[in-house]
Amino acid sequence: MKIVMATSECAPFIKSGGLADVVGSLPQAFVEMGHDCTVVLPLYADLKCREDLEYVTSYDIYLGWRKKHCGVFTCEKNGVRFYFIDNEEYFKRPGLYGYDDDNLRYAYFDFAVLELISHLQLEVNILHMHDWQTAMIAPLYREKYSMHPYYANIKLVFTIHNIAYQGKAAPSLVQSVFGLSESLYTSGNLRNDDCFNMMKGAILYSDIITTVSPTYAQEILTNEYGEGLQHILELRKGDLYGILNGIDYVTNNPTTDPALVENFDLATIESKYVNKVALQKEVGLVEDKDIPLIGIVTRLTWQKGVSLILEQIHTLMERDVQVVLLGAGDFELEQQFNQIDWMYPGKLSLNMKYDFGLSCRIYGGCDMFLMPSLFEPCGLSQMMSMRYGTIPIVRETGGLKDSVTPYNEFEKTGTGFSFTNYNSYDMMHVIDYALEMYDDKDQWNSIIENAMTTNLDWNESAKTYISIFENI
Ligand code: ADP
Repeated sequence: MKIVMATSECAPFIKSGGLADVVGSLPQAFVEMGHDCTVVLPLYADLKCREDLEYVTSYDIYLGWRKKHCGVFTCEKNGVRFYFIDNEEYFKRPGLYGYDDDNLRYAYFDFAVLELISHLQLEVNILHMHDWQTAMIAPLYREKYSMHPYYANIKLVFTIHNIAYQGKAAPSLVQSVFGLSESLYTSGNLRNDDCFNMMKGAILYSDIITTVSPTYAQEILTNEYGEGLQHILELRKGDLYGILNGIDYVTNNPTTDPALVENFDLATIESKYVNKVALQKEVGLVEDKDIPLIGIVTRLTWQKGVSLILEQIHTLMERDVQVVLLGAGDFELEQQFNQIDWMYPGKLSLNMKYDFGLSCRIYGGCDMFLMPSLFEPCGLSQMMSMRYGTIPIVRETGGLKDSVTPYNEFEKTGTGFSFTNYNSYDMMHVIDYALEMYDDKDQWNSIIENAMTTNLDWNESAKTYISIFENI
């Protein structure tokens, strides 16, 4: 099959979260299965591997009355072809998102992807879109491109990585930017809660909708998790699939990870504790290989259950335990952490930044990994932790529920610890139970073994995607 993916981020080029990890590894899994996969993304100012890019072509894009330049660059990595869409007005800025004109920037990108297909004469069986930034490709394809013979017979797949971000915009953009009839708004196709809603467009206009875990696929049909789109998803329930993400086994590998002080596997697990002590030194904690060390690596946003951590941090600090947090994001949450930063020297280390190397050393050097998310479409951090023998403590939601099996001390089964209700006392209770298990080395080694031998790679999930693609 010829698969083209449109995405706003992709590792190793540019990353803000799990979407980049997914689009960084799923195409390679498709290629290894004998399929052809091309990925298209914007050429941001912060893009890495720039030196590998070659110029291909350029053409114009029309966004309503605006005529915009579109340059195309390319490179190939591990059998996957990448195209980068270059427009300095829209993408030559620091970071990825959060600009006032994001709607316009990604509208431009959506047109650029569709135009690329005919300009480069790409043969496409599946056009795979990810999240709101590329959602409007589906309505644009059906309304503007599909009648052109060159574009006929392309099947559209839309993957929801996070339904909380939907691409909500002023109704006038439907016509003035996307050049679509106003009736698509008034009829409700692109309208939700009296607002233009791009994700709704993708849900209605795609052949298949997928999301990143089976539990999240169920959750987003409910009022609690559907973020206002549950009724629309209910209409498309027959075409909605939940496929659990995997992690990249090459980059997330404790036996080869260059960020670690000493590489290790299950047979050389003692080396994990060399990493632990080095991490304690790096982040200013008391160096002690026996004290339980809890890690947190997260975007700092309300979704990640950060408020539960803040609620219980003082209680947690009464225990014989250390905590290292690596997080960047909401200014207010960063401020709240900054206020407690001075209180527990040697015991609590707060690192308010984005740091890939440190994230690897936290996965490698900690004993436990805390991820009490309010909702979690899939979550990759808990899987990375498990691969490095760091035991996840999670809330049972979305992909956390699907990837972490609660430990059973009697049967010695399970890969982590979990709690159901979004409640900080329940979280604290489970942390206490994990600490009790940690004190029993026999139990703890069983959990580590279970976690490190769990299969978390992409193989099964990639096969599921392909069988769904084949069906349509
Ligand atoms: P989300 O996509 O919602 O942010 P995931 O768990 O799916 O959550 O993926 C998060 C990814 O981003 C992981 O690879 C994690 O290691 C990384 N990450 C998150 N915050 C940071 C940070 N402050 N520094 C380095 N890496 C981070």
